[in-house]
Amino acid sequence: MNSAGLALLIVSVGGSAALLAAPLDRAFPGKLTLSVDASDTQHRVVHVEEHIAGVSRASVLLFPKWLPGNHSHTGPIERLTGLRISSHGVPVNWQRDPLDVYAFHLQPTGTAAITELDVAFDYLSPTEPAIDPVEMSPDLAVLDWNELLLYPAGFYARRIPVSAHLTLPAGWQYASALESEGTHEDRTQFKATDLETLMDSPIYAGRHVARFDLNPGGGAPVKLNVFADRPGQLVLKDEHLAAYRALVQQAQLLYGSHHYEHYDFLYALSDQIHGKGLEHHQSSEDTVGSGAFSDWDKTAWYRDLLPHEYTHSWNGKFRRPADLWTPNYNVPMQDSLLWVYEGQTEYWGDVLAARSGLWNKQQALDQLALVASYYDLQPGRQWRSLQDTTNDPIINHHRPTSWENWSRYKDYYDEGLLIWLDVDTLIRERSQGRRSLDDFAHAFFSIHDGSRTVLTYTFEDVVRALNQIEVYDWASLLRTRVEGVGQPAPLDGLKRGGYQLVYTDKPSDFQKDIEGLHKQLNLLHSIGAVIGDDGALSEVVWGKSAFQAGLVASAQIVAVNGQAYSPELLTEAITAAKASHQPIALILRSGSVYRITSIEYYEGLRYPHLERDPSVPARLDDILKSRERL
Ligand SMILES: [Zn+2]
Repeated sequence: MNSAGLALLIVSVGGSAALLAAPLDRAFPGKLTLSVDASDTQHRVVHVEEHIAGVSRASVLLFPKWLPGNHSHTGPIERLTGLRISSHGVPVNWQRDPLDVYAFHLQPTGTAAITELDVAFDYLSPTEPAIDPVEMSPDLAVLDWNELLLYPAGFYARRIPVSAHLTLPAGWQYASALESEGTHEDRTQFKATDLETLMDSPIYAGRHVARFDLNPGGGAPVKLNVFADRPGQLVLKDEHLAAYRALVQQAQLLYGSHHYEHYDFLYALSDQIHGKGLEHHQSSEDTVGSGAFSDWDKTAWYRDLLPHEYTHSWNGKFRRPADLWTPNYNVPMQDSLLWVYEGQTEYWGDVLAARSGLWNKQQALDQLALVASYYDLQPGRQWRSLQDTTNDPIINHHRPTSWENWSRYKDYYDEGLLIWLDVDTLIRERSQGRRSLDDFAHAFFSIHDGSRTVLTYTFEDVVRALNQIEVYDWASLLRTRVEGVGQPAPLDGLKRGGYQLVYTDKPSDFQKDIEGLHKQLNLLHSIGAVIGDDGALSEVVWGKSAFQAGLVASAQIVAVNGQAYSPELLTEAITAAKASHQPIALILRSGSVYRITSIEYYEGLRYPHLERDPSVPARLDDILKSRERL
């Protein structure tokens, strides 16, 4: 644990700036009792009532702002409405701090002492995607406690006792890492806990549920709790269940520990609510499309999500960058080590997807080809370091961004993955196959087995742990990869893994399935664009042929060489242009404006693949193979 660098929160009281003291590691002298009514799924309004004992007239109430796993100040304060505060039945006026709109100051009339408060408000869950990602439907709901409470300033979250109650629509079931005291009718009372555990234990609830035991052999229970739009979407074949069970076994072999008493995957298969992946110590929020089970063969792209979020129980929740750890939810976070937190988790997520059988080897190689080829072309590398992209959650709150390949965006995930492949294969090469990044993972994450107390780390700790596995100048290698600007994509790990990146005129099955899921055509490596099945452009590569022709995301290709747009027509035109050396004529529409343009591109279709290089040991094959033992 490291509390260095905690900022004082500057707030204004009565119009003049004042300091809100940093939270202290001391017991809150009271208790928070929370009652949440989530039964109104028609209006998507959640009613919250709170009783807060142990406060005073000077207390400040906070709405959570800096959210773990989001790595940024994404607390949706705009959804808090209808706020009413009282004490012993007497209304208490409140004033929102103009310099920190997440802080509420009490403005009691009279001089009577205040020792407890009743707080009520309505949480407005988004009603349509144009406002924000939808998290509630008539059939299922995602409930994050950070949206459903105010808490007292001045204390570490883990030192604030909480009791929570939840009311759901009639007939619904829920899943959570929270432990229940019991359910009466549709109201559940959870066992008393602390604010940190509550906030880290969200709820998935719904009408249609299936539950699977993923660790039937014993040890800490791991459950797969699945919610869907319709009951038929919950059917999981035995061989697919076996792969999820293998995920648990392979992760425990890799990390040599667990940092949960029990673990619950909260898995929604839905086209009604928005996709999501969010890690917690003892659970994860995982939402994908409704066909994840019923259309297994076409939805492989979804299947590194659970390995990724499960890995976070070790990498991110138990072990966390020192500058990212915060004592409560209104102290700013710093994201400098997200290329470890997210980058290595992305690496292990893909490796575990392969080792468990959730992916076959070819799917894992095809995914790696997509990642490597993206960085092979990404123009933004010319001006911006990977390190600088770790600021992206704070810069734009995970919103979509335009010209992503030029701006760069959260590259600490996938470029981080390539860097850890580089490190893994380098350890394997230098140790002649005797050691690997598996040994690092075991050493770094297996300590304090069973503990949920966060253990923080710095860049130097990572380098030291790597050197204990294999002596090398890891600090220089990592700094060059992470901080360098204008460097080629980090593809050494692929080469050392025994593969090279090649391009052919046919997409991999894995790419075709992704295109099918997103209803789009990925032509990044030919004309330099991604196009929806309706012709709408979603991405254009800065400087490539489509860019030169004036194409821009959101414009729509209406016609190709004089005929109405279809994906097949465009790919045929690209192939024909290679032979004819004639430009591809397009009609574009932006709103009500039509425009004629042409793309001068003559190299034909190009799609990325990995090709085995027999002159180098197949280290990548070894990495992707399931383990019998470490
Ligand atoms: Zn993650």
